[in-house]
Amino acid sequence: MAMPDLHMLRESLKPDCANCFGLCCVAFHYLKSEDFPIDKPAGQPCVHLADSYACNIHSELRERGFKGCTVYDCLGAGQFVSQVTFHGRSWREGDVDGARMFATVPIMSQVHELLLYITDILTREIPGHDARLFETLLGELLAFRELPPEQLTGTALMAFRQQARPLFVRLSQHIRAEGLKQDGQTLTSRHEQDRADLIGRNVSQHDVRGTCYRGALLIGANLRGKDLSYVDFMGADVRDLDVRGATLTDSLFLTQMQVNAMKGDRHTRLAPVYTRPGHWL
Ligand code: SF4
Repeated sequence: MAMPDLHMLRESLKPDCANCFGLCCVAFHYLKSEDFPIDKPAGQPCVHLADSYACNIHSELRERGFKGCTVYDCLGAGQFVSQVTFHGRSWREGDVDGARMFATVPIMSQVHELLLYITDILTREIPGHDARLFETLLGELLAFRELPPEQLTGTALMAFRQQARPLFVRLSQHIRAEGLKQDGQTLTSRHEQDRADLIGRNVSQHDVRGTCYRGALLIGANLRGKDLSYVDFMGADVRDLDVRGATLTDSLFLTQMQVNAMKGDRHTRLAPVYTRPGHWL
């Protein structure tokens, strides 16, 4: 498979709700919580989903307690499942296997998440042999996502994740070390904060450039005004992480959903590829 245009691939990893059958509003199970004010079983359409697959309360989601809907981002998985995997046919059509379609959504979301991480890596300066490893993985993943729904299984996806994980860890270290070197610093053990519990902590007094927060709990923590260059956010829980005035332009493995979950403001700096959340002040 020829190497895809990375810019176009990255752009395709954004939701296109007009070409989706409202899948995130049907497929997932939502529990009544501060993010979603009602219980909704998986596979059942949300009461606010219109016949056109638009949301009837789109402009007032936060006011009505549907904060989670303003944070969720499918990374373009919704329209891919709708238009490619199921050939433009909706779960509302009688002969379409809706249950299969809904089960495919979380798998495709994870595929697109991996694609996002790989494009992030491949648009940076990395050693040639690593670039070739990621290009191979990218080709395999792009071929995988074209498979019919019955072959898009969690087991098959797990094999990709297991293959990718050590590569992501190694390249994260490389990119962070190189970034810090440019700033006259050295990567040390203090930069490794994988899975750290920093809930509600004020981290803003430290220089956190180059830190790995992979899988860390940063809920409600304070990184206000910080330079977050070469910070690895893979899988970090960043709900209400205070990034007002912070610089996220060169952060690593940052998803739009994480950006949406953070507490930013008009002074927060983002790379152009991200959409500035409407709820940031
Ligand atoms: S409230 Fe709107 S966006 Fe949220 S799940 Fe329901 S229809 Fe979808």
